[in-house]
Amino acid sequence: MNAMRGNLGWIEVVCGPMFSGKSEELIRRLRRAEIARQRVQIFKPILDHRYSADHIVSHDDTRIRSEAVNTAAEMEAKLDLRTEVIGVDEAQFLGEAIVPLVVRLADMGKRIIIAGLDTDYLGRPFHPMPELLAVADEITKALAICMQCGNPAKHTQRLIASEDLIVVGAAGMYEARCRRCFEPNLAAEEVQKNEVQKKAEAVSAGAK
Ligand SMILES: [Zn+2]
Repeated sequence: MNAMRGNLGWIEVVCGPMFSGKSEELIRRLRRAEIARQRVQIFKPILDHRYSADHIVSHDDTRIRSEAVNTAAEMEAKLDLRTEVIGVDEAQFLGEAIVPLVVRLADMGKRIIIAGLDTDYLGRPFHPMPELLAVADEITKALAICMQCGNPAKHTQRLIASEDLIVVGAAGMYEARCRRCFEPNLAAEEVQKNEVQKKAEAVSAGAK
């Protein structure tokens, strides 16, 4: 984005499904800022423990040092006022309060770069990403490649039996899928299958 340096702040959002390279893109932009000797701070939710507690690690194992936070309020408390560029990974886990915070920071002249999942495992908007997209100055919607058919993929397919909104994981638990191959009911069907199996086992155990 070609913005004049100085006191003008702005908000960039990189969204898309899992395996679309969001973290890689976030890391790439933050590195460019570090190379230009800008003051950079990076935050990610504590919830996301995969690979590392104090680094953002993309699926291809590029990494950048980060600070773990639970909420937008914690992020604000850890912010150094001299920081010029603020990165946030997995912003969908940080709650609605992140939205007014990033707007305030942009108004103060900070550049904020946010990465996150725009839809959940059922294909529904994953709040607060829609709100962040609405307040953003610039949006990048990244696509993955469908692991079933090779077409461009916008969905995150959950492969395991769970109907919880948040199940943190990576390879084996999720797949990128295109519109045609996406099966939003798969997780619910797996849960049902497990329950039927448990009942059958209970019945056969009772019959012995
Ligand atoms: Zn497909």
